[in-house]
Amino acid sequence: MIPVTEAFTSTYAKARASFVAAAEGLKLPTERHVHPAARGAEGEELSADIALLGDPDAQALLVLTSGMHGVEGFCGSGCQVAMLHDEAILAAVEARGVAVLLHHAVNPYGFSRLHRTNEDNVDLNRNFRDFSTAPAPNAAYAGVHAMMVPDRWPPTPENGAAIAAYVAAHGRAALQAAVSSGQSDRPDGLFHAGVAPAWSNVVLRDVLHRHGARRRKLGWIDFHTGLGPWGHGERIFSGPPDPAMIARAKAWYGGDVTSFYDGSSTSAALTGVAFHAALDACPGVEFTGIALEYGTLPFEATLQALRADQWLRNHPETDEATHDAIKRQLKAAFHDERAEWKAMVYAQARLAVLQALRGLHG
Ligand SMILES: [Zn+2]
Repeated sequence: MIPVTEAFTSTYAKARASFVAAAEGLKLPTERHVHPAARGAEGEELSADIALLGDPDAQALLVLTSGMHGVEGFCGSGCQVAMLHDEAILAAVEARGVAVLLHHAVNPYGFSRLHRTNEDNVDLNRNFRDFSTAPAPNAAYAGVHAMMVPDRWPPTPENGAAIAAYVAAHGRAALQAAVSSGQSDRPDGLFHAGVAPAWSNVVLRDVLHRHGARRRKLGWIDFHTGLGPWGHGERIFSGPPDPAMIARAKAWYGGDVTSFYDGSSTSAALTGVAFHAALDACPGVEFTGIALEYGTLPFEATLQALRADQWLRNHPETDEATHDAIKRQLKAAFHDERAEWKAMVYAQARLAVLQALRGLHG
């Protein structure tokens, strides 16, 4: 095992290098999926990288994904790299006879350039919808868009007062739901679902199909940050509203698995969530998915950072000092550099993986 803090890095390029080196150190089969067009913050190539641990022909597969939300990848990548150096995890993978697929940097563009969204400002975890049907209009988002993404940044006192009045009238949960549930009308807005499957979506579906469709069981832990108490890892059920599936997730991970279907999660109800990729790509495979969501800053601070970043994206002419300040603010909302936070994060990641391996066994 390496010291946990060494598994976490400060850029996408360094995170990728650590991941690839750890996989090579274990002589694991790997794949690299290079983005056909986009480049990173340092001009580097962007890719999703895959490593397969354990028996490749196992009946059960555990998928661990990082960077679905770009900048949140610092956390998920750190956990993936730490696991590849963790003898207890490696021994448990062996003992349980499970294959583990690590998918590093699902959204490498956002990871490298410090966005939560991708190269088209798409929130990937709202992008797994059925594009053959027209999206449902999101009237709640339409009602708050101009307020949430104002023309001026920092926002005016009047803008702050309008948001306070909205929260006073409707409640904070209503604001969170309006903003974050996923919307298809404003590509220049927050939590945009996209108009077609994103590159990362296509890659993820392909990887899941090739590695997962032949298995009997599929578990998935998707690493996220930005909601909930500092350092706490909330296990948010990720799947359709299927009572048997929810019961299985609770049997694996414990009764504190939350769900946005019953209001027990810090997350609002969402559309187009990535679990659809697993169900579509691996039909008939027994699926059990969670998002492991770690708290960073209070909700208001995270939302403020996302608003600032959206404003910046809509104003590319912004001066460098303002750009850098907004990027620092965004990274701080989705990652914490303190050793204490990383230790808390990895301890809970490790626990969840050991629980999943146990659930997938047999
Ligand atoms: Zn996330």
